[in-house]
Amino acid sequence: PTDLNALADEYLRLAYHGLRAKDKTFNATLSTDFDKSLGTVSIVAQDVGRVLLNLFTNAFYAVQQRQKIQKEPGYQPTVTVRTSCENHQAVIRVSDNGTGMPESVQQKIFQPFFTTKPTGEGTGLGLSLSYDIITKGHNGTIAVESQEGQGTTFTITLPA
Ligand code: ADP
Ligand code: MG
Repeated sequence: PTDLNALADEYLRLAYHGLRAKDKTFNATLSTDFDKSLGTVSIVAQDVGRVLLNLFTNAFYAVQQRQKIQKEPGYQPTVTVRTSCENHQAVIRVSDNGTGMPESVQQKIFQPFFTTKPTGEGTGLGLSLSYDIITKGHNGTIAVESQEGQGTTFTITLPA
């Protein structure tokens, strides 16, 4: 039994501080909206933790890229995590207002070794591993919604 809100909060901060340790000039807004009624969920916390860490790392990368490339005045990089309980499912949504992805990229992201990152910055294994952990390992679902140039939301559901 794991407190998903606490797990998500811990990994969000871990991912942010990891990135900030490498790039002190990087600042992002961390936004959380936790459903307190969620209670504990039976999961392999270490595995779901890895999934969350990869989602947050990807999200921070996407906002950092948008900031570097677009140079839009007033742009505020933001990564948001929300939890809720819907139809006996625990739901975790990770959103960013980063680069987003075109449809052609969205179709490939769960394939092993698919990456758009330069050599050394990404293995392309994060989301394929996440897909297995959530679907095969936990009987859950993982889905993406993204708008190129605007941002991305990943939604994970886990049987509560
Ligand atoms: P990696 O991070 O090593 O590239 P992942 O499996 O975690 O591998 O992600 C695969 C690809 O999916 C990334 O290279 C990127 O193109 C895309 N992607 C994943 N998350 C996001 C996101 N939040 N915003 C934009 N693109 C993303
Ligand atoms: Mg990744």
